[in-house]
Amino acid sequence: MYPSLSTQKHLPSPMASRILRPLLSAPQPCRLLITQSTPFLKPLRSLLANSIRTLPPTRAMSNDQAHADKKAEDVHEKERWKYNAPYRIHESNEHFEAKHTGQCHCGKVKFELSREKPLASKLCHCTTCQSQHAAPFQWAAIFHKEDINFNHGHHDLEWYDPTSKSIAHQLPCKVRCSYCHSPIMDEGRNMILLFPSLLDLKTQKAKDDFKPTCHMFYPERVVDVPDGLPKWTGINQQSELCEDTDAETVREYNRKRQKTNDEETGTNIPKDDE
Ligand SMILES: [Zn+2]
Ligand SMILES: [Zn+2]
Repeated sequence: MYPSLSTQKHLPSPMASRILRPLLSAPQPCRLLITQSTPFLKPLRSLLANSIRTLPPTRAMSNDQAHADKKAEDVHEKERWKYNAPYRIHESNEHFEAKHTGQCHCGKVKFELSREKPLASKLCHCTTCQSQHAAPFQWAAIFHKEDINFNHGHHDLEWYDPTSKSIAHQLPCKVRCSYCHSPIMDEGRNMILLFPSLLDLKTQKAKDDFKPTCHMFYPERVVDVPDGLPKWTGINQQSELCEDTDAETVREYNRKRQKTNDEETGTNIPKDDE
């Protein structure tokens, strides 16, 4: 990081210059004194030697250094996500009250949640979830990224982006323990979908809070789940409700959708529910 000695120029410091200047402008005999090795000048010579200062690096070195600094900055920029939510370790003086705790199967990855009830809890039947979890469907609870505190931050975690099939951290991606490979969560651009199977849900209320409220990508299912919950053909609220969805839920959804549609188009013509 530091320029080599050969590229440095050595100059007397301002203090040494103050001492030198009157001596150099003094009459000849006096000037001679500073070039001769007389014992009484020893302290002055050592003062000069000690007060040598270094000039900034040459222009060529500055460019190299700037390039290296820029490169280090870019690497730092690329790694910055490791220190942001959801991987940022909350400081002990921050107000982060752990409402739930969880861990992977081997226990290397431990985390806390500051939110008591997830924003939503869903079952996903898409084929990516089936293969990534080696299970008929996935159970996920949605949280803000700031709601989670991994005790060891980004350490002991690994990432997989199913879209590009890359293990780089690219959103949205799957997050696992790098040792036992337990799936921990899906990390989206704004939210996380945490897998509640890892949580230590102590009370019945906590268990109720995490109960799934709908099914997504239901046509891709490998098993029927006749639980009366709304079932979507794709992402909830962004696709169609499909079979086994309670008739009243379908009617209510269609009413809401019609209302939104009317508001958007500026029409408000009453229509039948069906
Ligand atoms: Zn583990
Ligand atoms: Zn899925």
